[in-house]
Amino acid sequence: MNLILLGAPGAGKGTQAEVISSKLGIPQISTGNILRAAVKNGTEWGLKAKAFMDAGDLVPDDVVIGILKDRIAESDCAKGFILDGFPRTVPQAEALETMGVVIDKVIEISVPDEDIKNRLGGRRVCESCGASYHVEFNPTKAEGVCDKCGGKVVQRADDAPETVLNRLATYHEATAPLVDFYKGRGKLTTVIGQSEVSDTSKLVLDAVNA
Ligand code: AMP
Repeated sequence: MNLILLGAPGAGKGTQAEVISSKLGIPQISTGNILRAAVKNGTEWGLKAKAFMDAGDLVPDDVVIGILKDRIAESDCAKGFILDGFPRTVPQAEALETMGVVIDKVIEISVPDEDIKNRLGGRRVCESCGASYHVEFNPTKAEGVCDKCGGKVVQRADDAPETVLNRLATYHEATAPLVDFYKGRGKLTTVIGQSEVSDTSKLVLDAVNA
């Protein structure tokens, strides 16, 4: 099963991808997490991506498509995968088709912009494994420590309010057209993001019949 999770930054794609990943036993592929690791390790791709990410802009398509192509060629993706944060532009979606990747379902998690701003303000992520938390809605058991791997849980620099506004604008301009793109291909299911993570998970798992 090859799935795509679509939605604004902070809509809950990463959190729900984790839920589906453990339920279906297929990997979650977050281009944001891969890029952050590349920046941290100072790789060539990381150096190219950093300025775009810091500003809340999209990393150029050719860079992200190259990263994604390499990742889905790995053996753990043989039985399927969940794309979280890719595609983010129509050319990225077209690149998947050119690669011959068949997408079974696209789940859009829909959350109003005002809620997105509140969610991103309280979001915290694990520096080591990328797991996502929220200070109010989905807190870690011990403050600042990842429940899953014990890594340090921090606020992302690009979750600062000014950067969030740019990321939201970029979402509406570049990524939201993918809703119609996948609707036109009969692949899209829209789920309304709920305030309780587990309520959204039920809707998402229903949508993928898991
Ligand atoms: P995310 O963790 O998904 O919010 O991604 C963090 C940042 O990484 C984004 O704001 C972009 O700068 C970059 N990024 C992640 N995925 C993509 C993508 N598919 N296309 C372009 N840029 C991306």
